[in-house]
Amino acid sequence: MPRPFLPVEGPAPVTSVGEFIHEEPVKSPFMQPLFPAIGKNHMKSSFMKPFFHAIILMMSLQTTSIAYAAELVATDPIRLQPESKANKIVDRQDAQVPDRVHLGNGLLGTRIRRNAIDWLPVQAAVNANGFLDRHATYDLTGEYYGKWLEASTLSWANTREPRLRDAIDKSVEKLLKYQSEDGYFGPFPPAKRWSPPWDVWSHKYILIGLSTYYRYTGNREALEAAKKTADLLCRDFSESRRSLAIGHCGGMSSYSLLEPMVWMYRLTGDERYRSLCDYIVRSWEQPRNLQIVSGLLEKKGVKGLKAYEYLSCVNGMLEWYRITGDPNLLQAALNAWEDIVTKRLYITGSSSQKEIFGGDHFLPNTGDVCETCVTVTWLQFNTHLLRLTNEARFAQQLERTCYNHLCGAQRPDGKHWGYYVNLEGGSKYGSGPFPCCIGSGPRGMAMIPTFAVATDADGVVMNFYDAGNATLNLRDGSEVRLTIDGKFGAEPKSSVTVELPQSKDFAIKLRIPYWCEEPSVRVNKEPISFPKNLTTDAYLPIKRMWKSGDVVTIECPLSPRIILGEYGNRGRLAVAYGPLVLATDAKLNGDGQPRQVLRPAEETLRSFTVEPAPEPFLDWPGAQVFRIAVRGGEARLVPFSVAGCGGQFYQVWPLYEGGIPENGNLFATAVESYSRTGRINKSLFQNGSVWTNDGKKADEDWFALALDNPVTINCVTFIHGKSEPPGGWFDTSAGKPKVQVKNEKGGPWITIGEFADYSDTTAETCNNKKLQQMGSPFVLTLDQPQSIFAVRVIGKPSCGNKPEQNYVTCSGLRAALLPTNSTASPR
Ligand SMILES: [Zn+2]
Repeated sequence: MPRPFLPVEGPAPVTSVGEFIHEEPVKSPFMQPLFPAIGKNHMKSSFMKPFFHAIILMMSLQTTSIAYAAELVATDPIRLQPESKANKIVDRQDAQVPDRVHLGNGLLGTRIRRNAIDWLPVQAAVNANGFLDRHATYDLTGEYYGKWLEASTLSWANTREPRLRDAIDKSVEKLLKYQSEDGYFGPFPPAKRWSPPWDVWSHKYILIGLSTYYRYTGNREALEAAKKTADLLCRDFSESRRSLAIGHCGGMSSYSLLEPMVWMYRLTGDERYRSLCDYIVRSWEQPRNLQIVSGLLEKKGVKGLKAYEYLSCVNGMLEWYRITGDPNLLQAALNAWEDIVTKRLYITGSSSQKEIFGGDHFLPNTGDVCETCVTVTWLQFNTHLLRLTNEARFAQQLERTCYNHLCGAQRPDGKHWGYYVNLEGGSKYGSGPFPCCIGSGPRGMAMIPTFAVATDADGVVMNFYDAGNATLNLRDGSEVRLTIDGKFGAEPKSSVTVELPQSKDFAIKLRIPYWCEEPSVRVNKEPISFPKNLTTDAYLPIKRMWKSGDVVTIECPLSPRIILGEYGNRGRLAVAYGPLVLATDAKLNGDGQPRQVLRPAEETLRSFTVEPAPEPFLDWPGAQVFRIAVRGGEARLVPFSVAGCGGQFYQVWPLYEGGIPENGNLFATAVESYSRTGRINKSLFQNGSVWTNDGKKADEDWFALALDNPVTINCVTFIHGKSEPPGGWFDTSAGKPKVQVKNEKGGPWITIGEFADYSDTTAETCNNKKLQQMGSPFVLTLDQPQSIFAVRVIGKPSCGNKPEQNYVTCSGLRAALLPTNSTASPR
């Protein structure tokens, strides 16, 4: 017997929903602190009772004539409002209304539910009563509000959480009161309109929110309001009136209006909207303008461009491609995708440094990388390309992004989102100066059900295997119900059970994950052979006469994979397991010594074991952590999606023994020590300084690195820390700071030179700028290479204006073997 729909099963006790509506929370199955497996036992579970009442109520409202579907269609499927204009280019893979695909208690399902239950309703209070009330002064209100409205509408469609719907309805009602007679929503008087950098951009997001809300709910007032805004934009912007090349990044922010203007054109068929879209794309190509299409066709790439705004324009360009059918637009987008994937994409599935697409293969792990807005527009970009081409390579990228960087940006309890989400660091979650990312992350999460399982001309497409269920309409209108079981990411086997009103001939296409080397697939008991031309970039189609009860089993053996770092990550390695990129995490490895030095690749693989995740890493029922041998013992790795979740240090790319990093530092994996433990911020290997200020006075201070095996060096670099009024520099009144080494293990320190260019100072004074700012390098180059086990820099500490103490700071120490006659110092 088919099971009732179980849209969600809730892991976390929810308080926030009740909080924001200030009412007695209604019991909901979403709110139970249980992790029931998807299975028939659910039916007996007492917590399901309220849900069954809902099903019975909904069933009584059903008018469906499909007898078998009485239980299946328990949630009264949403019918999107029709569009007036058909696309010239029909999607090869169909987007799903989120109420057709319900992910359950897998990793993504859990996160999607927390987004819908623990974040979006709470943000309703912030939005409706906070952001909207700041409307009069804040020009980014529309951005944040529009994203929230879209995310909440999709999440409501997926969960049917009544309080979320209530919050949406009330907030839209409030929003519409802010609209001027002529359609304007912003805070500026007519004479100032559109000049502030984010005014058009904010209206774009209001259009996105209102048009989505209308399509899902049929609310005509929302549509009329959106039309008034679109009319206003059409009146104000054109070649003969005002240029859209305003706002941020050469107008990229304003030009990204293209996406919802295409939506508005499709919805209404109003030719003025089409004209505005046409104007936007034409305008890009004017001399000295953005040249988005021609630049991409000439393969100029995206280096140096503002990533979020640029991808927003490119996403609009793909919507416009659907209308016009101009093949150049698709080709331009594919070129952008290729450029990003090959040169600018992190292994966790995001991009950008300080919101910009960086140089070729420049992927630093720290320093404000991977803005969540970029993660989500990248996700949208891949969904567009997946639908347009039906090629699995885009679904592969979606898996990479969703399971790693998107979940990594969301706090595991769903109650916060990150702005920059570095691959190494200590604090991932925080809105930064703007609310852009905490609005974007929830959108990305809410979009997953639209593509996790889909349909195409041949039948069903399985993009993701997160546990859950789906009721899909094939293109001939017939219905297929799928139940996906397993713990994708934690267990190798996933199964898909098919239910149909009657047997039917169609294909189920399985995405073979890119990391899966030896997949095996069965239908019922029968093995399916793989066509010879199937690569990891393809779907495995299984075309047959399907009948109810057929079970497809896909098995992707899970084993650790080593990714050896290149370019800036040379000398480092990352470990992945199935779809998950892993990271070291200080919480599991002793907060005092967060930095782990891994064993070489083969040893890391040999020592790898899996165990259930402890709190706080238990973010879903199948969550696991991983134990590996490291220098000095063993360490545990956690999925990037939970790494650093309590603010502790984490690292995707640790150094490994024998690895030589890009800067050539042969002591990169050394054990570090100092004369005194002072205000130690980080370590000699991380961004930050080591301080020796213990409040006392010492005759000398030193910073040392030691290895087990000797290395040959001819150059030592000392990176100065930050000097302050009470000290931090070396006092050179009795001599410059010296470099000492050990030529034997455990042997004596031998002086090999000094930093002659270190400025003259006293214990009390340091007038040199180079010593006052952090990061200044001092280099000692040796005439002859030396084989050494250890190196240290030693000198007299300074006291500045506090004579009762003294100290020195250091933010890095390196030793390298440079080619002879090279004067370059290791960076
Ligand atoms: Zn952002």
